[in-house]
Amino acid sequence: MLTISKYTFGVGDRFAHQAQAQLRACMMAAEHGVTVVPVWNKSNREHTIIGSEPSSVRAAADAAVKALGWTKPYHVDADHIRLETVDRFVAPSDFFTIDVADNIGKPADPAAVKVFVDKHPQLVGELKIAGIDTAFQTTRADVERVAAKYLNAVQEAGRIYRHIANAKGEGNFITEVSMDETDHPQTPPELLVILAAIAAEGIPLQTVAPKFTGRFNKGVDYVGDVRQFEKEFNDDLAVIAFAVKEFGLPASLKLSVHSGSDKFSLYPIIRNALRRFDAGVHVKTAGTNWLEEVIGLAEAGGAGLDMAKDIYVMALGKLDALCAPYAAVIDIDATKLPSEAEVRGWISQQFTAALRHDPTNPGFNPSLRQLIHVGFKVAAVMGDKYLRMLESCEASVSRNVTANLYDRHIRPLFVG
Ligand SMILES: [Zn+2]
Repeated sequence: MLTISKYTFGVGDRFAHQAQAQLRACMMAAEHGVTVVPVWNKSNREHTIIGSEPSSVRAAADAAVKALGWTKPYHVDADHIRLETVDRFVAPSDFFTIDVADNIGKPADPAAVKVFVDKHPQLVGELKIAGIDTAFQTTRADVERVAAKYLNAVQEAGRIYRHIANAKGEGNFITEVSMDETDHPQTPPELLVILAAIAAEGIPLQTVAPKFTGRFNKGVDYVGDVRQFEKEFNDDLAVIAFAVKEFGLPASLKLSVHSGSDKFSLYPIIRNALRRFDAGVHVKTAGTNWLEEVIGLAEAGGAGLDMAKDIYVMALGKLDALCAPYAAVIDIDATKLPSEAEVRGWISQQFTAALRHDPTNPGFNPSLRQLIHVGFKVAAVMGDKYLRMLESCEASVSRNVTANLYDRHIRPLFVG
């Protein structure tokens, strides 16, 4: 079976230009003795907005690996696919993130719920799990309620998994199930029931992306109760270790954190928890790379800076339309967004200070950053003009992409 490595890191960029710069950050980790396997991911939503094909992600990844001589594993992730969108991803991908969030809460067949609960008597009553201080106390009614909420979603994941397996062959790809794009977090006891159901469905699950407590806004730090996240993340790791043994799921099974980029305050917590459980993790942080492209353009000055300003000004003009699809994952304070006239007068350092994710910089502007994060459609509309500018500012763009991934993400998470 194609087995996922312990530490994997979801990278990728909207325009398939930064694969080498991203891989360089993984090579820096390797130079420090830590293997961080890159997984290039791009969701169906991004492909649709940009007008790109999944095969372009594979081509960019393969080319970067060849150019830099990377000899460790790497993967291409069909991110957030569903039955109706998966087909064009099947050939170029070897990692599939099966998104069944929309099926959560859809009515499950009561007979199937009864069969599931009958077959899992160990879920009812007092359940002691190594690494969790307080035993779970559950009644049969609790397990029935959780199963009824999630069984339809797990069955849908099974249908999608089998569809992919028919086309690619079992064991030739990594399977993730994601439930993160929903309003209500899944608690560790719920995760346990979900994992039992996934095992019963016959899905060789290797990564699972629950919805965690708190807000994972795009491109900015975590908003929520950090202590509560810590407890939940630790308990989830304990539940996964338990479920691997109890239900026969793959030993490589680990959490996948769909971070929405840049959850810096959570990184020390994740790192400590991984050490405590000797666990692996997958962290998806693709969106941050698009922002580094814009920073790289601004840093280059001249025409690059002008284009970075154009992107901001156009995004400002389309504020409502750009934000609508991301309403659940952004918090922009429109009163904090600088006017077109102000931004047109900025020098490079003012623009990069506002956009770069350095909360200690007094010029940092999280509202501007979130707007540009969701504003990549503006660059897609620019088309070749944007791509040509990326190429002419390659040095400053790739420098920012690599430094951001290594210094702000990979080093604090995996290297220390
Ligand atoms: Zn996600």
